[in-house]
Amino acid sequence: MSKISIAIDGPSAAGKSTIAKRVASALNYVYIDTGAMYRCVAYHVDKHHVDFDDEEKVVALLESCHIELKQDGGVFLNGEDVRHEIRHDRISKGASRVSRYEKVREFLVAKQRLMAKDGGVILDGRDIGSVVLPDAQLKIYQVASVETRAQRRYQENLARGLACDYEQIKQDIIQRDEQDMHREHSPLKKADDAILLDTSFLTIEEVTDKVLALAKTKEQEK
Ligand code: C5P
Repeated sequence: MSKISIAIDGPSAAGKSTIAKRVASALNYVYIDTGAMYRCVAYHVDKHHVDFDDEEKVVALLESCHIELKQDGGVFLNGEDVRHEIRHDRISKGASRVSRYEKVREFLVAKQRLMAKDGGVILDGRDIGSVVLPDAQLKIYQVASVETRAQRRYQENLARGLACDYEQIKQDIIQRDEQDMHREHSPLKKADDAILLDTSFLTIEEVTDKVLALAKTKEQEK
């Protein structure tokens, strides 16, 4: 039985990272949160007071953007742990803006492939199964209704003590879906060989068990 590569893609707030972390821990795999990397770029851009829509300046900032992901959830940008800062609404929106640029995607995809090269990894994002790891042995496309996703994000924000308004969260999710699905480069879409998993009426445990069962079958086949 050997270790495989697992791709989990899907729209914002579909619970991908929750599942990916649990599966990684159960299988002793490395978890790579690719969204955190786009968020780091947005944070870096914002810190330099550059407009997210100024493609040239955003691209120029890439060379000074050193990102490191730690297995304890740490997200380091030029040595600073920004795991909490990158979750703010402004950065969520910024990440979706800067992820439109081809050069930004090339820069991060190259890093992601390097991080995943030895297998035994689970990556979550928008283009993992379609672009980053087209040969991943297991591809999941995780979805949930907009209402379910907004409700989950609302509860998450409440638990974190962040200010939140359900309607606003729902509108932001709709807007990010729209941007991520309709951008020119690597739009969010289900890879042909990805398994569609609608989690609207499933618990976290049920989804984790489903993905784990699929992963174990693929590990045995490898
Ligand atoms: O997954 P998360 O919400 O943290 O991602 C933030 C943003 O980064 C997404 O809205 C999307 O625009 C972008 N992203 C992407 N490709 C990925 C992961 C994230 O374009 N593989």
